[in-house]
Amino acid sequence: MEYSLPILLSALAMTLIVGVRYLLVSGAFAWATRVRYPKLYAGLEPQMRREIGWSLASAAIYGIPAGIVAWGWDSQGWTLIYRNWADYPLWYVPVSIFLYLFAHDTWFYWTHRLMHRPWWFKKAHAVHHESRPPTAWAAMSFHPWEALTGALVIPILVFIIPIHVGAIGVVLSVMTVMGVTNHMGWELFPRFMVNGKLGNWLITATHHQKHHDAYRGNYGLYFRFWDKMCGTDLGLGDWGSSPSRRNSA
Ligand SMILES: [Zn+2]
Ligand SMILES: [Zn+2]
Repeated sequence: MEYSLPILLSALAMTLIVGVRYLLVSGAFAWATRVRYPKLYAGLEPQMRREIGWSLASAAIYGIPAGIVAWGWDSQGWTLIYRNWADYPLWYVPVSIFLYLFAHDTWFYWTHRLMHRPWWFKKAHAVHHESRPPTAWAAMSFHPWEALTGALVIPILVFIIPIHVGAIGVVLSVMTVMGVTNHMGWELFPRFMVNGKLGNWLITATHHQKHHDAYRGNYGLYFRFWDKMCGTDLGLGDWGSSPSRRNSA
């Protein structure tokens, strides 16, 4: 019982952090979209309100397990998160970041494929695909059941793979920024990168938009590895009838 208040406060604080982080990052990219392509979200206001509603519900679903684990880390010595850079060799820092991203990508790919089976799609994933086309606000627009599958990944990984607390920050930043930019309806990264070797293996908006257009294939989160391995890679999208959205950089 003596632990219930601090656990509750930690879960609340983390929910607030995730929610505010979402509003700031999605808000920033929605604003950038308005500056760059003023008409891109025209008429999508009711959809954007829905996306914000689902995303804020997801913030609580992400925040509660994260808050419980953060409390356990700080006060009970749970998890393999370390504070002292000297605890592991420096080369391990980028390796740990890659391991987290790859593990999350693997989990996302297979659960996302499952979510496209008719029963799961109707029960949960349809919420995410109600965004046609998605906007910068759709980053966490998931049905609570689907949000729950995503919410447990990092809180479980911190018990399995050692990581520096700063590297966790990098992983969470990549997660947030890519979640927003992959849905905002235009390509942020320069074309030479998207069409080059990096884009061959990394997922950006041009790849994920095609998932939303086709309702199948391109299931990955960060890497095209599983899509290529399993024959579900549809290649890069062409931004349909809106070539003006393509990044001309
Ligand atoms: Zn999907
Ligand atoms: Zn999506």
